[in-house]
Amino acid sequence: MPIAKIYLPHSFAFAFACTFVQYLITHFTEFQLATVGTFILHESVFFFSGLPSLYFERFGLFSNYKIQKKSNTSSYQDRCVWRLIMYHLCVNLPVMIVSYPTFKFMGLRSSLPLPPLSVVLSQILFYFILEDFVFYWGHRALHTKWLYKHVHSVHHEYATPFGLTSEYAHPAEILFLGFATIVGPALTGPHLLTLWLWMVLRVLETVECHSGYHFPWSPSNFLPLYGGSDFHDYHHRVLYTKSGNYSSTFTYMDWIFGTDKGYRKMKALEETGEEGGAKKL
Ligand SMILES: [Zn+2]
Ligand SMILES: [Zn+2]
Repeated sequence: MPIAKIYLPHSFAFAFACTFVQYLITHFTEFQLATVGTFILHESVFFFSGLPSLYFERFGLFSNYKIQKKSNTSSYQDRCVWRLIMYHLCVNLPVMIVSYPTFKFMGLRSSLPLPPLSVVLSQILFYFILEDFVFYWGHRALHTKWLYKHVHSVHHEYATPFGLTSEYAHPAEILFLGFATIVGPALTGPHLLTLWLWMVLRVLETVECHSGYHFPWSPSNFLPLYGGSDFHDYHHRVLYTKSGNYSSTFTYMDWIFGTDKGYRKMKALEETGEEGGAKKL
């Protein structure tokens, strides 16, 4: 009697990924996958992950975990959604189409075999670290007087953020900070599946940071150096010249350059039970 072969979970996932990619490259061109495919995946993940916090706020759900007591009106939330759809169609999609030749030139591929898991994970870790570094300095520049007034103030119209506000920004900022997201993949020429995995993780991360809710299961409770919703919510509710917390994902850049002092002071006050805590706002 043959001995049953033992498959590890990642072997099943790898086999599924191979079949999935084989199906895609048989039915679509690489250009279609890298542009329209990326756009559809982005929209699906963004709205699927971002809509819950909008409805939590609208219907007063999980209010114990809401970081700010203030809430946006339904019409103010809807305004964000409609503008996002317009920006995504008029800015994000054209950028995906125009940047395809650059990605192709740098080595993007969609063919089999898939890269080893170690390559995928090390590339994605590199993208997170590089993106956080570029985002920190770009975001800090956006908080200078002229750039804030003419560009970044759009993103800060929502002082009480909810998940979808993560991508609500002036078109110039979408291009400027979008560069931080794509510079890593553009430098390393990954497999399309790695690019998609990076995009999905980055969208989930920024939506969580803007969710306006800090749950017991929020990733910042478990992941060292991860900023999360509490860290970025502070950035939105404080005056732009004093907000700090410029990083997108991690906390160490703000710690190294001393731009998290206000936030740390507030957390210390919260712990001693004095006024100034987030829940009191
Ligand atoms: Zn900002
Ligand atoms: Zn923000």
